[in-house]
Amino acid sequence: MDDNHLRDPHLLRRLHRNRRTAEAVSDDFLKKNASSGHGEWMTGTPSERREAEKGHDRSEHGLDELSVRVPVHRDGHGHETPVVIRKVKKTRRLPQRSKEMVFASLHHHTTFSYGDGYALPSAHIRRAEEIGLSAVAATEHGNISSHVQLESAAKKAGIKPLFGVELYTGELGENATQRKNHLTVLAETQAGYQNLLKLVSSTYSDGFYYEPTADGKMLAAHKEGLVVLSGCQGSALFTALVGGKHVAEEDASYERAKRVASQFKRALGDRYYIELQAFPELQKTCQANPLLVQIANELKIPYVVTFDCHYTVPEEKEMQQILHNLRPGEKRSLEDMAREWGYDSNLCPPWTDAMVIRKLVGTGLSREVAIRAVLNTREVADRCTVELPSLPMVRYPLPTGYESAVALWRDRTISTISPSPSVRWGRVAERSKAGRVPPPGNRPSPTPLPCRERAGSAPTTSPRAGLHC
Ligand SMILES: [Zn+2]
Ligand SMILES: [Zn+2]
Repeated sequence: MDDNHLRDPHLLRRLHRNRRTAEAVSDDFLKKNASSGHGEWMTGTPSERREAEKGHDRSEHGLDELSVRVPVHRDGHGHETPVVIRKVKKTRRLPQRSKEMVFASLHHHTTFSYGDGYALPSAHIRRAEEIGLSAVAATEHGNISSHVQLESAAKKAGIKPLFGVELYTGELGENATQRKNHLTVLAETQAGYQNLLKLVSSTYSDGFYYEPTADGKMLAAHKEGLVVLSGCQGSALFTALVGGKHVAEEDASYERAKRVASQFKRALGDRYYIELQAFPELQKTCQANPLLVQIANELKIPYVVTFDCHYTVPEEKEMQQILHNLRPGEKRSLEDMAREWGYDSNLCPPWTDAMVIRKLVGTGLSREVAIRAVLNTREVADRCTVELPSLPMVRYPLPTGYESAVALWRDRTISTISPSPSVRWGRVAERSKAGRVPPPGNRPSPTPLPCRERAGSAPTTSPRAGLHC
C-alpha cells in the first residue's frame, strides 16, 4: 500500500478533472462527514477497506466517488495504523449553473457568526457560484471578521461582496438587559463602511453587555452611508408586530410595529428596508409577512426578502444544531434545543428566483409583492459599492551609505547577531572582570573525542569525514 495516495497520478488526474470535488475533499472535511447525504467514513480492517475501495473505483450508481487516504504509518511490527477513506459523492451541487439569479443574499452568516453560522466565506462563495448568486453579504452576529475573506473569495469568483453586520440592539447603561433585538446593517458607501467600523467598535468598547450592543444613539451617530434592513424574527419590528423575544404576544400589535418602522424611516429615509423572510413553514412568518407589507405600503418603505443564511446547503442544517449544542454553558438537551430553535427552515441560499417567489407566496404574499421583494434585493446590492480599505505597501527609505536593502541587512544582522570569535571572547573577558564567569584560561577545556567514538563507528579514510567531527 502506498504511503500517500494523494500523490497517486491517477487520483490527481481525477482531482484535477473535478475541481469541485477536490475542494470538497480539502475544505469541507467535517461537513461532509456530519451530513448524511454527502459522504461517509469507511471502517473495517485495511484489507477489507482495500477490497471495498476496488469496488468503489467503478461507480455503479452514477456517483462520482473519490477515495482519499491519509498517509499510512507502520508501527515497526508490520501493522498499519488505521486508514481513513472517504467517499465524496456527486451531488446536485454540481454542475454549476450559468444563469445569474436576480435575488441577492443580503442577510448571510458564515462560520464567523460563532456557534451559529457554518462554513467559511469561501465555501459560501463557492455555493453562490454554483447556484448563480451574483451578490452575497456578510452580516455576522456583532462582528465584521469575515469581510476580508469574503472579499478575496468573491473577487476571485466574480461575485459582488456586500459588507455588513447583524447588530445586537438594546438599552445600554443603567437600563441594560439581556433582552436584545437584531438589526441587519449593510455599508452602502466607503464613508458608510467607516461608519460601520466605528459602530461595531463602539458596540464592543461602549456597548458590551453580554453581547456587543448598539443603542439608538450609537446608530444615529453612525447612520450615514448605511443601508438598514428591519431584521429577522428577533428584530424590534418583527417582535413588535407578532411578539417574540421579550415582547409578549398580547403586547404586540400592528400600531406598535408601525411606530417602530416609522422611527427607522425618519432616521434613515430611503436607506431603510423592511425585511421579509421566506419561511412558509414558520407560522409567525406567515402571520407577519402580510402585515409587514401593509406597513411598508402605508409608510412608503421598500421591502426585500432574505433567507437569513447560516450554511450553504440544506444538508448542513445538522452542523448548525451541533454548533448550537457546543455553545459554552449550554445546558439544554438536544431535544429542548431542537424544540426552541425550530430547525424547520432551511437557512441556506435558494437556488432559483422562482423558489424565492414560491416561498414568499407561501407566506401569504401576492406574486407581485414577492417579485418586488426579489427585485429590491438587487437594488440594494447595486447601491452598495464598498471596497475594503487597504493600506499602501509600507516602504522604508535606505539610510545614507547603503545602496541596497541586502547590504543594510548584512551590516545590521550578521555583524551584530553573529559577532566574530574575538568579539565574543572580548565580551567574556569583560564579564569575567566583573566576576560573573571565570576567565577563559581558568576553564577546564573539554577533551575532544575521536570521531569514531562519537559516531560509534569505525574510522573512515574519507577526507570529508573530518567535516563531521
Ligand atoms: Zn437574527
Ligand atoms: Zn441573521
